Order: sequence, then C-alpha cells, then structure tokens
Amino acid sequence: MKKYYGKFGGQFVPNEVKIALDEVEKAFLKLKNDKEFKQELQYLLKTYVGRPTPLYHAKNLSKHYKHEIYLKREDLTHTGAHKINNALAQALIAKKMNKKKIIAETGAGQHGLATATAAALLGLECEIFMGATDVQRQALNVYKMELLGAKVNAITKGRKTLSDAVDEALNFWVKNTKDVFYVVGSAVGPYPYPQIVTHFQSIIGKECKVQLKKINQKVDYIVAATGGGSNAAGIFHAFLKDKKVKLIGVEAAGLGKDTPYHAATLTKGKIGIIHGMQTKVLQNDQGEISHTFSISAGLDYPGIGPLHAYLQESKRANYYAINDDECINALKLLCKKEGIIPAIESSHALAYLDKLCPSLKKKSTIVVNLSGRGDKDMQSVYEYKKGQIYG
Ligand SMILES: *Cc1c(COP(=O)(O)O)cnc(C)c1O
Repeated sequence: MKKYYGKFGGQFVPNEVKIALDEVEKAFLKLKNDKEFKQELQYLLKTYVGRPTPLYHAKNLSKHYKHEIYLKREDLTHTGAHKINNALAQALIAKKMNKKKIIAETGAGQHGLATATAAALLGLECEIFMGATDVQRQALNVYKMELLGAKVNAITKGRKTLSDAVDEALNFWVKNTKDVFYVVGSAVGPYPYPQIVTHFQSIIGKECKVQLKKINQKVDYIVAATGGGSNAAGIFHAFLKDKKVKLIGVEAAGLGKDTPYHAATLTKGKIGIIHGMQTKVLQNDQGEISHTFSISAGLDYPGIGPLHAYLQESKRANYYAINDDECINALKLLCKKEGIIPAIESSHALAYLDKLCPSLKKKSTIVVNLSGRGDKDMQSVYEYKKGQIYG
C-alpha cells in the first residue's frame, strides 16, 4: 500500500514507533481482505452500530435553499457519530492480533467514548489519554468512558490538550507494543493510520452511492466537515473517481477570519510535519504549530489528514472555512426546519449551504454528511454568546 498521497503522509517517526507501525500495517493488510474478519465486522456494524444509516431527503431544508438537500445520517449510529465505524474496526483488529488492551487519544472525548464502547463490546482493556484541560471541560464524557470500563489518563504536560495527549499515547504505546494496540481516531498520523481510518470510514460513501442509485438520483455536491478529515474521507472516497461529483470540505474558522485561534488548516496552513505525517499545518512564521480554538472541540486540530492536503492540491476537492456564528445559525436552522439537532462539527458543513446554494445557477442535488448528533453540544450552544465559552 502506498505510504503517501502525492507528497503528503509518510512516516516521520523514530525507529521504535516504526516497528510498531509495521506490525499494525501487516495485520491490517491481512485482515482487510479476510473473509471471517469482514463478516464479523459487517455483522457488528449492522446489529450494533445500526448500519446502513439512512440517506434522508430533507424536504423542508430543500425548499428553504431551492436545491435538493440530502443528509447522510451518521448521527443515528450507536454513540451518535461516525467515529464508532473506525473505533470498532480497529478494536477488532487489536483483538485478532491478540492484544489485551487498546489505547486512544481524545480531545472533546468523542473518540475516547467510541473506543471505550468498542473495548467494552469486545472485552478489551481500555485506556484513554486526554489533556487535563479537556478532562475538566468534558467531565460528562469522562464519566461515560469510566462507566464503560475505561481508564482515563489526564495528561498534565504542555498545554494539557489534544496534541499533548497524542504525544503521551504514542510514548505509552512504544513502551508496551506487545500487549497494546493504538486506536487512532481520525484520518491522521503516520502511515498506515490515515489509510486504515479512510478504509473503515469509506463505508459511509459506499452506502450513500447505493442509496442514491436506488432512488435514481445523481449527486452534484458532497459536503462534509473536516477536523482530522475522517468523516469527509469516508463519504468522499467512493466518489473520488466520479469527477462530476464536486467534493467540499468545511473547516472551522473559530470566531472569524481575523482571529488567530481557528482550525482552518487547509485554507490557512502551510506544509509541515505533525504527529508523524507530512501535511498542511497551522503554524506561525517561525514554523511553530499554532493552537486552535473554535466552538467545535471536535474540529480543533492544527493538522489535517494527508488525503485532504492531497485532494486540495490536486484540486479534486475544495475546502472552505465557516466561523462560529455561521455554524450556530446553521445548527438552529436544521433544528427548526427538520427536527434534527446536529453536532456542532456537522453544522459547519450545513452552514456552507448558505454560501453554496445561492451561487448555483441550475437546480442541484447536494448531500451533506451529518457526521453526528448535537446532544453533547447543548451546553456550548446554550452558553454561546453569553461570553462564557471563550473565558
Ligand atoms: C470528531 C468529529 C468530527 C471531526 O472529525 P473528522 O475526523 O474530521 O471526521 C466531525 N463530526 C463529528 C460529529 C465528530 O464527532
């Protein structure tokens, strides 16, 4: 399997990590075509995760935007977001490799939750690395992970957020590779992780393609939010060769385009190395990695999966940034029009409809990947503009 997407990706890691990655690569290449593994995963995706998720024709929103809008309902999966597709698949690989324990990094807690869920289901030990600041901010998710039997390790180094948690998880992994598998949560990190995550999330696009065909509907645009880029990679993948389908990734611009704290890696970043991969990175003129902050903790990552850096460079996909105000307006619009409360992350993708739809000359069909449900975000939405969340 190729280690790079164009010039993006690769394995920028010390030798001990490379040895661990080689073992993961070998297991993945063997299992991804293994009949028994595929059947077992498919069975769990159907009976436990709730796949296939519906492709929903949002008629009220369509009327509002004067174009046909469809939503791919990843919000209806068990645990409420697409992350479970990948966490469960990697946990199953760990089990087949006879590992006793899985570990994961988490920022907002959603990947930690998905990993703890998969560990409980498959009878694996689980330890989640989470920055101490995030542990405080996400107390409810921490409690959920503990209920599910996971140990949550609060990292007090550095800025005590996601990047520090990744470093600590890697350190722990290299020292314990015999018993431990590292479940990476987005289409990021050194090879083979971006490829593994994309492979397991690509079920979203595959289903979507079949569902569109069933209703005899051609699609013009596919829109997805990008943090590290896993749900976008997942829905884009089946359509990459179909050049008529335009692919749009939407990043978080935080408070707005003039603030330094945004997560708009592709629209503002430069080529650099972060967490073992070469990709686009938000950095200052000295090449130091920037700290991100948007209302959406799930999109707060200063890097981006290498596939997206490549799709942007090759112009196969386009990436835009949406600010917090635009995101919250889109969230509220979907609630009112369709009775669906979307995740803040997914609301960035929805917000792009406001820009896209008025610019289209002919009536178009647009699929938005509704990556997750908004229950986890109600406090942030409630407090938004009360001056509390940026305090
Ligand atoms: C984590 C998360 C994202 C962002 O992660 P990607 O890897 O870019 O998909 C988007 N939406 C939801 C609901 C999430 O939980």
